[in-house]
Amino acid sequence: GCGICVKKCPFDAIDIVNLPEHLDQPVHRYGRNGFVLYGLPIPIEGKVTGILGPNGIGKSTSVKILSGMLVPNLGRNEEEISWDDVLDLYQGTELFDYLKLLSQKSVKVAVKPQYVDQIPKVFSGSVRELLATTDERGRLGYYLGRLSLTNLLDRPITTLSGGELQRVALAACFARDADFYFLDEITPYLDVYQRMAAANLVRELAMERPVVIVEHDLAILDMLADTVHIAYGEPAVFGVITHPKGVRVGINQYLEGFLPEENVRFRAYAVAFETRAHTAATNREVLLEFPAMTKRFGRFSLTVEGGEIRKGEVLGVLGANGIGKSTFAGLLAGVIEPDTGAMDKRVRISYKPQYLKGDTEATVEEILRQTTTKFDTSYYQHEILEPLSLSQLLQAPVNTLSGGELQRVAIAVCLSRDADLYILDEPSAHLDVEQRVRISRMIRKHAEVREASTLVIDHDIYVIDMISDRILVFEGNPGAEGRAAGPFDMAPGMNRFLKALGITFRRDKSGRPRINKPGSFLDREQVAAGEYYYTE
Ligand code: ADP
Ligand code: ADP
Ligand code: MG
Repeated sequence: GCGICVKKCPFDAIDIVNLPEHLDQPVHRYGRNGFVLYGLPIPIEGKVTGILGPNGIGKSTSVKILSGMLVPNLGRNEEEISWDDVLDLYQGTELFDYLKLLSQKSVKVAVKPQYVDQIPKVFSGSVRELLATTDERGRLGYYLGRLSLTNLLDRPITTLSGGELQRVALAACFARDADFYFLDEITPYLDVYQRMAAANLVRELAMERPVVIVEHDLAILDMLADTVHIAYGEPAVFGVITHPKGVRVGINQYLEGFLPEENVRFRAYAVAFETRAHTAATNREVLLEFPAMTKRFGRFSLTVEGGEIRKGEVLGVLGANGIGKSTFAGLLAGVIEPDTGAMDKRVRISYKPQYLKGDTEATVEEILRQTTTKFDTSYYQHEILEPLSLSQLLQAPVNTLSGGELQRVAIAVCLSRDADLYILDEPSAHLDVEQRVRISRMIRKHAEVREASTLVIDHDIYVIDMISDRILVFEGNPGAEGRAAGPFDMAPGMNRFLKALGITFRRDKSGRPRINKPGSFLDREQVAAGEYYYTE
């Protein structure tokens, strides 16, 4: 342990070798024994600055400080701390000029809040009314077009889907006239197409104003940010925001779980993107062959090519929102009847839906005990509760959980049932980057140990890469026509999806896939060769 932690650490084996010297000096402490923050991110002219780390580690606190909403107390809550004390301390550092402006109360920040689901609870008018006061630079019309919001202007906010709310919240923030912009996650509820569109807008904005962003989709953060600050520590107890690192190096250190400059290991294992051959699956027994099927809902029709699902494999599912992924899951589960074609074999399916209710007063433990008889076994403790960090939540009523907590409970419930096929619709939603790494490992292990087949629908390319043996690809026109193709081996499946998306990935020396800049030399070379993903 590091001597600061008062509880068991949330990581497998946190092993903070030594605390860097600058940690002698906290930036802020809430109350006598409250959360302590060390270090601050630095907004930089012309740049996107990323913050990479778990939730509860002080990201929002640092933004409150940088926006002037909270005067930092330097960890000395008992004393009166003035801006002069703070400026004395930061004399000669990169943040000095910025803090000086802040102390003169001349900094304005535009914030995109993390939980867009809260917007309908505080605002009941139309999209047009919500955005009316935000057009401070005359650019709102441009953002509405780029975010495909123009047709939504007269819709009441309360009728919007998660992805629509997210794009409205982004437009509202981008349109403001501020000295710096803080975006607390841009990708939740967005499909890969929409993530790319939002990311490109952030890059454009950064040419005019500094942007600080928290993002847990690492492929997107990688293409978006110039530098990253890594945030580590113990959520709710203390958080350290490191000095900025180049985005490639920073993300690689994060995946490695070790920060060499700080001499800190914060995870017991490294996350590796294997250059695997993806042929292991062919030796596996077939669980289920599904036939060619069609299904129509009003204007939308889905066409499924036939395919097979093998025992013990994890199938990644990629495709836009509204393209028929959930409908396909419903066909496999037998809860939706196809118009043509028919499933001849019934398999037992356990399904985690995309949108979670969580409106029961029952506790987490009560819900889990209802779904499994193995609750008291060490298998359950080590393979389900621990990787999902649920032990501390067992007594909490389900209707008091945050989005990320509810997601982890829903994953546990899904994997606790006895089934032949597990289907998880967007398990990464609301999870921070550390939790995404952990659930990817646990879902793979669960499939292997139980010889259970698993379908994972997700929009985070790194999660799909980490988790999948093979890939199912959805193509077509969202809301109108969808076609399910595959399963394919990883390379052809990823290639097919990315070709339709028009983006290419290279691998860096560590094996990590990175999005190529559109039109760059590598991008053009790979497009010409038809190699959108793996170029081994
Ligand atoms: P993040 O944005 O990284 O999720 P926050 O900065 O919101 O983290 O919070 C860090 C920690 O500080 C959390 O444990 C939170 O409960 C605590 N905290 C935040 N605001 C306050 C406050 N006003 N008073 C006391 N504790 C707070
Ligand atoms: P995805 O999971 O890929 O986002 P879905 O399968 O949920 O897509 O939906 C595909 C299309 O079918 C959407 O346009 C959706 O509105 C429509 N749809 C889905 N279920 C129904 C239903 N029960 N009744 C009418 N339309 C539906
Ligand atoms: Mg869906």
